[in-house]
Amino acid sequence: MVQIIDILSSYKNQKLILQNLKKSQEWNQKKLEEFQYNLLLNLLYHSYNNVPYYNEIFDKLNLKPSDIKSIKDFRKLPFLTREIVMKNQGEIKAKNFPKQKFELKTTGGTTGEPLSFYIEKGKWIANHMAYNRIFMERAGYNRRNKTISILGMKKESKYHPIFRTLELSSFYITDKPDDYIKKIRGFKPKYIISYPSAIAFLSKYILEEDIDKIKNIKGIFCHGESLYSWEIEYIKNAFNCGIFDIYGHGEKSVIAATCEKSYNYHIFPEYCIVELIDNKGNIVSEEGKIGELVVTGLHSHIFPFIRYKTGDLGVYSKDYCECGREYPIVKSIIGRINEFLVTKNGKLIHLIKINQFIAENSLHIKKWQLTQEKEGILLLLIITNEKFSEDDLIKIKDNFDKTYSKDFDLKIIKVNKIIQTGSSKHHFLIQKLPVERIYDKKIIRKNNECYSLF
Ligand SMILES: [Zn+2]
Repeated sequence: MVQIIDILSSYKNQKLILQNLKKSQEWNQKKLEEFQYNLLLNLLYHSYNNVPYYNEIFDKLNLKPSDIKSIKDFRKLPFLTREIVMKNQGEIKAKNFPKQKFELKTTGGTTGEPLSFYIEKGKWIANHMAYNRIFMERAGYNRRNKTISILGMKKESKYHPIFRTLELSSFYITDKPDDYIKKIRGFKPKYIISYPSAIAFLSKYILEEDIDKIKNIKGIFCHGESLYSWEIEYIKNAFNCGIFDIYGHGEKSVIAATCEKSYNYHIFPEYCIVELIDNKGNIVSEEGKIGELVVTGLHSHIFPFIRYKTGDLGVYSKDYCECGREYPIVKSIIGRINEFLVTKNGKLIHLIKINQFIAENSLHIKKWQLTQEKEGILLLLIITNEKFSEDDLIKIKDNFDKTYSKDFDLKIIKVNKIIQTGSSKHHFLIQKLPVERIYDKKIIRKNNECYSLF
């Protein structure tokens, strides 16, 4: 009984948030900033009064929330890191919430040690459904449209009649995914929601095996992993439709999404504040420069994440998008710091560049994964189809050496299976070197070739 009441109230909340988002996406920058600032002040007063960790920080700095009159003042507050959260978990819990409202969450350990924190029970479903909905409406979505989702479900497939959605688990996609393609074709969806690696893999298979294309898809929504430009190419060529990406994280302190006009990430100022910082902690404000995303969740009062270092990198831009929304833009979000590879002389090159190379040379390769244990040495595991020959192997090796022999020695091994770590997402890199520590010490060159794609 309680559950039905919860669902109804969650639906009501979702509708209200969605209505408000429809209005606020039309606001100009000034109005959005005022709105955002009021949410921030509310969060800061609350944190000062109810959260021991932040109360101590304000006191140490001899500040009161009323002293924070601008974003410049806000920057007097220190960064919050994963390590600080881990050490101060009890102190970051707000004292004015009842016990039953705290829900413990742990983020996956694929990018470092798992992180535990709290979210407010019952609050987020409505919130995220509303943000997801407004994101999907950018592609013309409405609830009557049939949709396929390819995410990390435990069950192989499940149909939800209310949402007209067929869920297929990415976990069971085999190297010959004809059954998945048949299921998608048979269901006749208008939209697909997927991990980018899963839909890019299916797209590559459709293109290389010359399978009849699945027609009439109006949009593909990517979730949960970095979306690479070469993946966009595969998906676009196989499905000939708009591709959209949404970025967020379990800490509920950032949401940004691409739109109908560009692959730039539009930050939702109704939800969060995003700053970009360089590896010395300075604010990045130069067009095209890369920085780490530092985020403040404006609705996570139960366990506030204020100026939280995400470990994700983005490209700064002052631009507005031609879609007309005056939301702040991050030009691209290029994944996590530990998606870097370390060259023979200790330079950092982003995985994106090597992945792009493999994608371009990947005829007859179905899946791949890189492992790095030593500086300048890469191990590439590949799963191939039956057309793959010794000549293909030599060609990849030669092409790689032409460009990268000064940076890496590459060893390629053919395998039958690539082991996933922990979740059903595909990891293109198993990085065993302490890249985050190396990154902190080095200045990544502004025009580093690893960003030439953007
Ligand atoms: Zn736009």
